[in-house]
Amino acid sequence: MKGAAAAAAVGAVAPRTLAQSSAGGTAAPTKLRQFPYSAVELLDGPMREQFDANHQFFLALDEDSMLRPFRLKAGLPAPGEPMGGWYTWSDEFDPPNNMTGYIPGHSFGQYLSALARDYAVTGNKATQAKVFRLVRGFAETITPKFYDNYPLPCYTFDKINCGLIDAHEFAKDPAAMPALSRATDAVMPHLPPHALTRPEMAALPHPNISYTWDESYTLPENFFLAYKRSGDKRYLELAHRFLQDKDYFDALAEGDNVLPHRHAYSHVNALSSASQAYLVLDSEKHLRAARNGMNFVLAQSFATGGWGPNEEFVEPGSGALGESLKTTHSSFETGCGSYGQAKIVRYLMRITGESTWGDSLERVFFNTTMGEKPVQPGGFCFYYSDYNNHAQKVYYPEQWPCCSATFPQVTADYGISSYFDSPEGVYVNLFVPSRVNFHQKGARFSIEQRTKYPYASDIALQVKGESPQTFTIAVRVPQWAGKNTEVAINGQRQHVEAHPGMFLSLRREWKNGDVIEYTIDQPIHLEAVDSQHPGTVALMRGALTLFAINSPESRFTREQLLAAKQSADGRSWKVESAKAPVGFQAFPDIRDQHYRLYHEVTA
Ligand SMILES: [Zn+2]
Repeated sequence: MKGAAAAAAVGAVAPRTLAQSSAGGTAAPTKLRQFPYSAVELLDGPMREQFDANHQFFLALDEDSMLRPFRLKAGLPAPGEPMGGWYTWSDEFDPPNNMTGYIPGHSFGQYLSALARDYAVTGNKATQAKVFRLVRGFAETITPKFYDNYPLPCYTFDKINCGLIDAHEFAKDPAAMPALSRATDAVMPHLPPHALTRPEMAALPHPNISYTWDESYTLPENFFLAYKRSGDKRYLELAHRFLQDKDYFDALAEGDNVLPHRHAYSHVNALSSASQAYLVLDSEKHLRAARNGMNFVLAQSFATGGWGPNEEFVEPGSGALGESLKTTHSSFETGCGSYGQAKIVRYLMRITGESTWGDSLERVFFNTTMGEKPVQPGGFCFYYSDYNNHAQKVYYPEQWPCCSATFPQVTADYGISSYFDSPEGVYVNLFVPSRVNFHQKGARFSIEQRTKYPYASDIALQVKGESPQTFTIAVRVPQWAGKNTEVAINGQRQHVEAHPGMFLSLRREWKNGDVIEYTIDQPIHLEAVDSQHPGTVALMRGALTLFAINSPESRFTREQLLAAKQSADGRSWKVESAKAPVGFQAFPDIRDQHYRLYHEVTA
């Protein structure tokens, strides 16, 4: 077909608004749709390796041990070894000095959720069978007694809710929703009347400090999802009850930055509750709250995309982010933080169709999540990314902390974060070796993506289709993309403008064998930690943050940093300094070396 040779490409894409269906609820419009887990397959590469490692690890985790804290409280036989750490009942628990026995069973729901999603991605029957066994095993233990003298009932129930609705939705377990109904009955006497802030919890009598750390404000997201997946109005009422409008969303919706000094991850997680309030209730206020809230987070992020030193948001304009480089090694709660960011970013991309949310996601994935050390037997895992001037990657000393549970959830979600669907066609958000399967006008299509991005700049997208069809393939052009960003189709350079911060839309008749070659110009640049420390900069190439290896005291000029030279294999960079050349690497390539993220530059 003649017209097909010249792709009618539009830089600034305004995807058509979609009505979305929800069980009985108001349908709020979204611009894009999420693909099902089964539609996206990660191909060989670092994301696939992390996904496989987490899938195998949690598939092998002992089920008796996982169920033990619940069986003990139900007075049932509880065979199996205690898991230890945060997961196990312990008389030693004495917060904040001894955290063993902190929140028994807290992460059960998240391990279940991750396995349900892993099943949806892979179709592996053994994974589905494990989900079924865990749901049945858990259902036998449900009792309100579980939450007697339990410091964080909202926290643990919220994760159980997530696990059961995911077992229902993604592993198709018919026992999951009945179990959720009974688990909800069991927790009801232990829930507060409404979402409580930490100061409100501190004002109540509490046997120890851990009772002031519960996270009732994150409950609505999973209650809204439980309502959508079951149609049961009780969950809708509970979602309403725990929306933290008074102390959080109302202020954010008005553009008032109330983040400082709040617990970082859980308040980002709460923005997903606001997003669900928009999707289910068509509440524009909650969309504004989610959007403004996330923009406030991005404005106080490190160059890596991480945020919240010591798990707390800082006062804007205070220089506290820069100060934290000298005072803490707990710079970013990586497992939970990147999971929370991935969720809110997917909501905001779906709702708004704006590509820049994807920029923030690739930044946090490439510079934090993909550099997490693998979970070890015994539940030792990576927790904090360290941006201290004297930094190293370490395992968290406590077994089975929160980040051991969000890590497999985020790796299960790599695929659905990579592509979005729309009536016009497919939106490519992440550049990662992968394949997406979809239909266009009844014809089966797939796009296979091959790339070594961000180490290399070229991305090949091969189209396979049953019959030629006209639709759009849109690729994200990052906000920071350089002027040599370009696209070719079947070897023909396309004369289209790639607008940074937009999707580049390629609409034409696509046929089997068509190949898009997309090159993203990734300029080297420096990013100051905050405006109070303009001379404290990180070296970046596109979205990738580069860390100086084994050279904590090196002194560089801006020119030296900007002249960083990439090695032939693409995995390291060399920078001249006053003393000797210094090697730089990306976070996923760092093992046990000492590294430094920010440098004081004079010139
Ligand atoms: Zn965590």
